[in-house]
Parts: sequence; structure tokens; C-alpha cells
Amino acid sequence: MQKEHFPTVQNEPKYALVTGASRGIGRAIAERLAKEGFHLYLTCSQSANLLLPFAKDLADRYAISCVPFIADMGNCTDVERIFQQIPSLSVLVNNAGISYIGLLHEMTTADWQNIMRTNLDAVFYTSRLAIPLMLHDHAGKIINISSVWGNVGASMETAYSASKGGVNSFTKALAKELAPSGIQVNAIACGMIDTDMNQCFTDEDIEALRQEIPADRIGQSAEVAEMVVSLLHAPDYLTGQVIGLDGGWI
Ligand code: NAD
Repeated sequence: MQKEHFPTVQNEPKYALVTGASRGIGRAIAERLAKEGFHLYLTCSQSANLLLPFAKDLADRYAISCVPFIADMGNCTDVERIFQQIPSLSVLVNNAGISYIGLLHEMTTADWQNIMRTNLDAVFYTSRLAIPLMLHDHAGKIINISSVWGNVGASMETAYSASKGGVNSFTKALAKELAPSGIQVNAIACGMIDTDMNQCFTDEDIEALRQEIPADRIGQSAEVAEMVVSLLHAPDYLTGQVIGLDGGWI
């Protein structure tokens, strides 16, 4: 008889790592995974004042373990330090990211490298260390939080678009490499989501963008978190996909 390939509910503890979880989309994903009963490892670059109380609050409210790390995910040594404390991992959510808006010919090399190391190198560093833990269980999910600009590109956001385009190709390639090992790799290409990342836009800018979006509104972090949970419950046959979550925008 053919083996069923639908996800099964198991009683053993499940561990998830969410990068960039002090605020915005990462914070919403952490909250939603806590609600699902995952034990959590959470990171952010420097907002200990936000991440530490949040991790304690999740641990108390959901009766889970929740370990916060202040670390630069674009720094290989920092990522290795985190994984030294992770013995088991079912889910990796690569969410940490930064944006840069400006003309490409005015961009410094340092700014270009900062975007690439934060948005793309970090996904390599974490995945490289998560994969052996997942291979051990012949199961695991890697979910990359990407952007519609990684698919179609945005004016004034060439570096950001290139980094997210890299994440999208990374997702498709790694999914092929890991499918035989029972590990699924997918990405969520977000449209405009209401977070501090978009603080640089004026109310007028945001209103103009809203008018372009068929759903007639900006997306919410909680909707991205819901999409992450949907991917966790999806059949294992779903892998290598870059799923748009943009209100029909792109
Ligand atoms: P945000 O600025 O509100 O939060 C970013 C989080 O990433 C913070 O917790 C920050 O500490 C962390 N972070 C940044 N650099 C880091 C580093 N080097 N090491 C560790 N952590 C780091 O942003 P957001 O809107 O919640 O974005 C989350 C993800 O969603 C990003 O990858 C972003 O590119 C993507 N995204 C956002 C939107 C949007 O409209 N908000 C759209 C498409 C994609």
C-alpha cells in the first residue's frame, strides 16, 4: 500500500527558529507558532528591550520554552553560536530582513553588502546549519519570508529586489535538493505589509500604494503568520514554491 504523505500530529515537542522576531512579521509568526505549541528560538539584531520580554511573555502564556538571541543573522559566527544551542529543529523561518530605498548609482558598496548579507547570506547560514538537524528526523520545513519585488523588481529597490530574487531561487533549488530527504522549502512573497519597515513612506505614499492593490488595503503581519502555519499543515508534496501574499497586487 502506498505511504500517506500528509503531515501527522505528533506528541513529541517541536522546535522552531524564527529570525527577526522582535517586531513586525517575525513577531506575529512567533506568536502564531507559540499558539501552535512550538518551542521557540527567536532572534533579532539589537532590540533586546523588545525581544526579551516578548520571549518571556510567550513562554508564560503558552507554556513553551522560548529562547531569545540577540545576533546578527548576516554574521556567520553569530549564526553558528545560536545553532550550538539548538539540538533539534522542525521549522526554520528566515524572516530577518532590511530594506534600502535609493538610486542604485548612488548606493555605497557597504550598503549593497549589508542588504545582501542580511537578506540572502543569512538564509544560507541558517539553512546550512538547520539541514543536518532536519535530516536526522527525515522531516522539516524551511520557510523564507520574501517579497513580490524578488519576482518582479522595484525601482529604487534594486539591491533589495536582487536579494529577495536570490532568496526565491535559493528556495526553488534547495527544495529540489531536500525533497528526497522529506524536507520542504517554500517562500512567501509578501506584498505591502503594515510594519515599521514601511515607516519611511508618507501617508500619501501609502494611500497611493493602497489604490494599486486590488484587495484595497495593506496586508497585516498576522496574515503572513497564518500563511506560515498553512504551509506547516500543507501536504509534504508542496515544496519549492514562492507563494504570493499581496492582495492581488502583482
Ligand atoms: P521590520 O523592520 O519590522 O522587522 C525586521 C526584523 O528583522 C526585526 O526583528 C529586526 O531586528 C530583524 N533584523 C534585521 N536585520 C537583522 C539582522 N542582521 N540580524 C537579525 N535580525 C535582524 O520588518 P518586517 O516588515 O517585519 O519584515 C520582515 C521580513 O518581511 C523581511 O525579510 C522583509 O524583507 C519581508 N517583507 C516585508 C514587507 C513589508 O511590507 N513589511 C514586504 C515584503 C517582504
